Amino acid sequence: MNFRLERRRGLLLVVSAPSGGGKSSVLKLLRERDPALGYSVSYTSRAPRPGDVDGKTYHFVSRERFGEMIDAGAFYEHAEVHGNLYGTSAEVVEQALGQGRGIALDIDVQGGLAIKKRLPEALLVFLLPPSMATLEKRLRGRATDQEEAVRIRMENARQEMAHWSQYDYVVVNDDLEGAISDISQILTAESRRAARLTLVD
Ligand code: ADP
Ligand code: 5GP
Repeated sequence: MNFRLERRRGLLLVVSAPSGGGKSSVLKLLRERDPALGYSVSYTSRAPRPGDVDGKTYHFVSRERFGEMIDAGAFYEHAEVHGNLYGTSAEVVEQALGQGRGIALDIDVQGGLAIKKRLPEALLVFLLPPSMATLEKRLRGRATDQEEAVRIRMENARQEMAHWSQYDYVVVNDDLEGAISDISQILTAESRRAARLTLVD
């Protein structure tokens, strides 16, 4: 019996949560532990913030250029978030995965589902807050938000959480260390599975 080991594609991990669910915190820690996951495939029209590096956190482009890229079909998905445009580049994703690089995206719930539709291999992880009370506390704790903004975000969160069952995995973000360790285990199990799948006759 002959087996050939094909070049392994990288894993595309998509972490989604309602606003305040902890996706930025989780992704930041995951990338610190595995810098290979930091490869940026996202474009945005928002202005860079201090510490942002072009091509590392995002590729920064003008609104006009972003519009041209949408017209050219450059994105797996794109969305407007708080007046800024964000999009996941199909070409950069393909390039990175083809080279065997891993990608971790922190993306909203609809964005995650849109990617999965076009790229079924994407590994979708839904971060669930342990309770709505905790989520509300986190939203209040980090924001200079007014009452109305928190109310709108809580309403959005309720709607977004209706989609958790369409995700491949659900991780309860109770304590951050626990969530990171759950996701690391998922990544290990999935990369073993992917390795088995690449053994061909
Ligand atoms: P998101 O990116 O999903 O909007 P963030 O990562 O910005 O969420 O988290 C929102 C707030 O909740 C931040 O202040 C963050 O420090 C806090 N937070 C996130 N996860 C936890 C956790 N497990 N325990 C305590 N605080 C958390
Ligand atoms: P930030 O500007 O803080 O990095 O991101 C702001 C928001 O945009 C976050 O809620 C994040 O989930 C969302 N976001 C970041 N990148 C993308 C992307 O490529 N696609 C979509 N749909 N949302 C994104």
